[in-house]
Amino acid sequence: MVIGLTGGIGSGKSAAADRFAHHGIAIVDADLASRAVVEPGQPALSEIAQHFGDQVIASDGTLDRTALRHIVFADPEERHWLQGLLHPRINSWLRAGLDNATSAYAILVNPLLFETKQNTWCQRNLVIDVPEELQISRTMARDNNTQEQVENILKAQANRQARLNLADDVICNDGTLEALYNAVDQQHEMYLSLKS
Ligand code: ADP
Repeated sequence: MVIGLTGGIGSGKSAAADRFAHHGIAIVDADLASRAVVEPGQPALSEIAQHFGDQVIASDGTLDRTALRHIVFADPEERHWLQGLLHPRINSWLRAGLDNATSAYAILVNPLLFETKQNTWCQRNLVIDVPEELQISRTMARDNNTQEQVENILKAQANRQARLNLADDVICNDGTLEALYNAVDQQHEMYLSLKS
């Protein structure tokens, strides 16, 4: 059984995933996948360098993700090109991770779970939901970004209501971290019960 875990940036996906991992559940993370497929030596990195030029390659030869992010968040066409290049590679990486999981069920974490249609790989989809002001303040504190940068990222993601409409399960992360962990613990029990 695969559970999709999603939510906007700063909603608490990583914190929730860490708690599922604490219960021994395998976590397969689309953000990790998106980094793995552009490591030096991977064909996608040379294609990106050819397309965008040296401005997106750091002096040590790795991808300058911040520079790339600035380009693609400002330009939907470039974002589309990049997604077309990366998505098939990311999908293969994720499928391999899910196939290799040996825990009672596995969790696929992806902020763009619905946009990439990876929700169709999952038996259930869990949305971590948070009021927008909290989402922005937590993300600014974590990433040292300006409010404007965070708001641009939010615009590129599915809107909150659309995501909630597609959810089977929702955890509202507007309380303490401890409250989030309690909610995850209950959700974990529920997923275990679905298996039996
Ligand atoms: P995501 O993975 O969805 O981008 P994170 O799990 O990294 O979000 O959470 C964003 C930031 O907010 C992190 O610094 C995290 O520690 C913090 N955070 C998450 N949930 C809570 C909470 N309930 N209370 C306080 N801080 C939280």
